[in-house]
Amino acid sequence: MKEANLSDYEKVYKDFDWEVLQSNMTGLPEGKGLNIAFEAIDRHAESELKDTLAIRIVRKNLSYDDFTYGQLKTLTSQFANVLKDLGIVEGERVFSLLGRVPELYIAALGTLKFKGVFCPLFSVFGPEPIFQRLSKGDAVVLITNTQFYLKKIKGILEKLPSLKHIIIIDAEEDLDAQALSFRRLMEKGSEKFSIPPTDPEDPALLHFTSGTTGMPKGAIHVHQAVLTHFITGKYVLDFQKGDVFWCTADPGWVTGTSYGIIAPLVNGVTSIVDEEEFDAMRWYSILEKEKVNIWYTAPTAIRRLMRMELVPKEKFDLSHLRLVLSVGEPLHAEAVTWGENAFGVPVLDNWWQTETGGIMIANYRSMKVKPGSMGKPLPGVIAAVGDVEGENIQIHRQPETQGHLVLKKSFPSIFRGYLHEEERYKKCFKGDWYLSGDLAKIDKDGYFWFVGRADDIIKTSGHMVGPFEVESSLMKHPAVAEAAVIGKPEPSIGELVKAFVVLKAGQLANEDMELELIGFARKSMGPAVAPKEIQFVESLPKTKSGKILRRLLKARELGLPEGDLSTLEN
Ligand code: ATP
Ligand code: MG
Repeated sequence: MKEANLSDYEKVYKDFDWEVLQSNMTGLPEGKGLNIAFEAIDRHAESELKDTLAIRIVRKNLSYDDFTYGQLKTLTSQFANVLKDLGIVEGERVFSLLGRVPELYIAALGTLKFKGVFCPLFSVFGPEPIFQRLSKGDAVVLITNTQFYLKKIKGILEKLPSLKHIIIIDAEEDLDAQALSFRRLMEKGSEKFSIPPTDPEDPALLHFTSGTTGMPKGAIHVHQAVLTHFITGKYVLDFQKGDVFWCTADPGWVTGTSYGIIAPLVNGVTSIVDEEEFDAMRWYSILEKEKVNIWYTAPTAIRRLMRMELVPKEKFDLSHLRLVLSVGEPLHAEAVTWGENAFGVPVLDNWWQTETGGIMIANYRSMKVKPGSMGKPLPGVIAAVGDVEGENIQIHRQPETQGHLVLKKSFPSIFRGYLHEEERYKKCFKGDWYLSGDLAKIDKDGYFWFVGRADDIIKTSGHMVGPFEVESSLMKHPAVAEAAVIGKPEPSIGELVKAFVVLKAGQLANEDMELELIGFARKSMGPAVAPKEIQFVESLPKTKSGKILRRLLKARELGLPEGDLSTLEN
């Protein structure tokens, strides 16, 4: 096996300098700046990678739509010209409402070339969440298909005066004056496009957060974020020449754009996209057939795979897999070790957020994995835990002390604003630090451990309990498939720890099981932290990106308003 790109973490961390990295990027010709799409496509299309497969989309019927770097260059230039011909102005926002089809990728990269701001929406949203986002994002162009246009868009158009053009990918002819045929527009669009001068600080992407803790926020990212995409691709995903990479996330979430589009292309590897939703057997066959080397997925998918009896590496040839990675939620220690048996490689957890634009804390291929830990900060990222004191952060120097997870704001992909929420944006920063909203601990070896979201923390009998700790310990019980823990107000102790548990198939949800689980948790965690109440449920409420919605469990438990449910999974 090839040596890892990041073979000596400590040394690289010590010497890392973003300015040196920026000066080593190709950059637009004649020193005209730094543009994500140029780094991702055009520079490769002019190199020996021209005929290399850049993106392979596996369609629902398992046929392929393949694009080389050379072909992508032409198609994205045509799309940039489409925007130009429509009279769109640089900086205006282009939204997409599409499944994982070729036009989504062409539009995303073409918009970045043109210097529009791209905002991908998850295609299963209904009209109301779509309206909220198009309206908040001042969308000028929307690219979608006929079905979505008729079912989800037509009815809200009247309320969207700034939306000028709708581009319909499957219409042979224009549907009306506003809804135009993609094919027609592309035919007219020239194949040559010269990327305008791009300042690294020019806005590039707008991403809405998952809405786990409340109303989704619109995070603004700039072209300079490409430095993070590039270097995390090298160090965390360990991209090497000739690699085949598959990120299962939809571009409607930041992972599906930063890692489902940009990072693999910037690193010149081949990226697999599956048009279909989660399907264990289909996924395993894609890993086998496409000879995937690096696979990036999420805890919710891993938990589903773990529930099956199947050991994939016994049924499928997964010998090409070098790395399996996960992001989005805490990854339980069991999942890390399960991976070793199931795939032949451990599942490597990493932590980041819509706001950070790219991976910030990670387990690296070359570093010892401590199952249950998020790993260590990316070279170039300074992370710490501390307490908020007025307008500053008091950093904890003592290992194992729980505190707010904070990052020095000096990395290129930090968001530059919450759209139309300046105050909220400002509140995320204290001095030089960005306050992530998560709580964590650092152990004596410098590994970071997730405790919980600050909003989810439970205060019980003078203890601060992170739901992750309790959930992880319940997950160790062989009958438990999934668990979510909340704090329920209880005057004598502040809050009572309550767990919602999904049992594995064939397990009986009864009082004996409840006592068994409470006893099991008390033994491993102690009576102060173990749940006092357990409720068995068929499934847990999740966001469409697969995150457990603890705030909804809590609201329902307390009979409070359920809040924004636009991202609730069906
Ligand atoms: P919102 O901000 O709207 O409430 P969200 O925070 O879930 O939604 P994202 O930006 O998609 O939106 O998710 C980032 C959050 O996901 C992190 O702040 C963290 O709470 C959680 N997360 C991501 N990766 C990990 C991980 N490896 N371990 C633990 N938590 C993680
Ligand atoms: Mg968040």
